[in-house]
Amino acid sequence: MKQVQIQRWLKESDPKQLRSLFAEADKVREKHVGNEIHFRGLIEFSNICQRSCWYCGIRSQNLSLERYKMNRQQILEAAQRAVDLKFGTIVLQSGEDPDLDIDDFCETIRILKRTMNLAITLSVGERSFDELAKLKIAGADRYLLRFETSNSDLYKKIHPPLPSKPNFDRFEILQQLDELGYEVGSGIMVGIPGSTWDDLMEDLRLFQTLPIDMIGIGPYIPHPSTPLAKTVGKEFSNEDQPPNTPEMALKVLALTRILCPDTNLPSTTALETCDPEKGYENGLLCGANVIMPTITEMKFRGLYDIYPRKAGQNRLAEDLILRIHQNLKEIGRVPGTGPGMAPRFVHRTFER
Ligand code: SAH
Repeated sequence: MKQVQIQRWLKESDPKQLRSLFAEADKVREKHVGNEIHFRGLIEFSNICQRSCWYCGIRSQNLSLERYKMNRQQILEAAQRAVDLKFGTIVLQSGEDPDLDIDDFCETIRILKRTMNLAITLSVGERSFDELAKLKIAGADRYLLRFETSNSDLYKKIHPPLPSKPNFDRFEILQQLDELGYEVGSGIMVGIPGSTWDDLMEDLRLFQTLPIDMIGIGPYIPHPSTPLAKTVGKEFSNEDQPPNTPEMALKVLALTRILCPDTNLPSTTALETCDPEKGYENGLLCGANVIMPTITEMKFRGLYDIYPRKAGQNRLAEDLILRIHQNLKEIGRVPGTGPGMAPRFVHRTFER
C-alpha cells in the first residue's frame, strides 16, 4: 500500500469505506494466519514498578496504590488455570521491578516448562542483555515490549529515563531479544496526547521493518492518577493528532494486518475496555487473531491498575471464552490449539 493511501485511511471516517478496509484486513488475516484464535493467559504477577511513565497507573509515584508481588506458588497456580482452560501460552507481566530476583524467576520458568506444556511470554519491562539471556536459557519463549510511540521526544517525555539506566533504548532491546532467539512482541498506544499523524505513519513503517512477530495496538486510556491524563483535550487540538478512540485503534490494527500479514495481532484489552460487550470481537473482525484474557487471581486484578475499568477485572476467563466461542461461530472462526507461533517468526528464523 502506498504512503498516501495509508495517510488517507488513517483519516477516513466514512463507515462504508471503513467497512471495506476492515473486510480487506479480515481477508489478509484469513489467508496468512488462518481462522484460529489463540488465547494467551495473562498473569499480572506484580505491580511493583520503578518507572514514572506519564500514562500508566502503576507508576512509582502513584503512592495510593497498594503494591503486590505473587510468589512462585501463586504463579504456578495461575499457570495451571491456563492449562485447565486449554490455553497454549501464558504471559507473565509486571511493572519494572528493580528487585525482581532473576535467578529465582528463572527457576520458576524452569519449573513451569518442566511441568506444563505452555509457551512462556514475558513482559517485565526493560532488562539488561544478560538478564534477557538468562531468562531465555531458563525457557522463556517470547518477550513483549511495546515501543509505545516512534516519536522519540514524546517517548522520552512520557517514559522518563532513570538515572540508573540512562541509555536503555527500546529499539535496541528489541534487536537484542531477536538476537537471543525470542519470538518478539511490540506495539503502541494510539492517540497518546502530543502524538501526530506522521508519528502513526512512522509507527506503521517500524512495524514492517523491526524484527517483531506480534504487535499490540490499543487506544490510550487516561488514568486519573497520571500526569498525561491532565493534558487530554486541553493542550492539543484534534486536527493535529489522532484521537484515542477505539475506531482509530481499529484502523491502525487493520492497516497493520495488511502491511504485516504474517504477524500475530491481539485484539487488545484496551479495545475491550472501551467496549465491554464486543471490544474483542471488533478487533477480531479487523485483522486480529489473538486474545489475552487475564487469569490473574481475582484479589490482585484491581491492583494491576494500568488504566481505569480495565476489562476482565471481575470476569472469569471461562465466561469470556464462552462469549467469544458463541460469537466465533457466526464469524467462522475456531479456537486455536497449541502455542500459536506467529508465521512471521517462522519466516524470520528460516531467513537467518
Ligand atoms: N512494565 C511493562 C508492562 C507494562 S503494561 C512494560 O513497560 O513493558 C503493558 C502495556 O500496557 C504497556 O506497554 C502500554 O502500552 C499499555 N498501557 C499502559 N498504560 C496504558 C494506558 N493508560 N492506556 C492504554 N494502554 C496502556
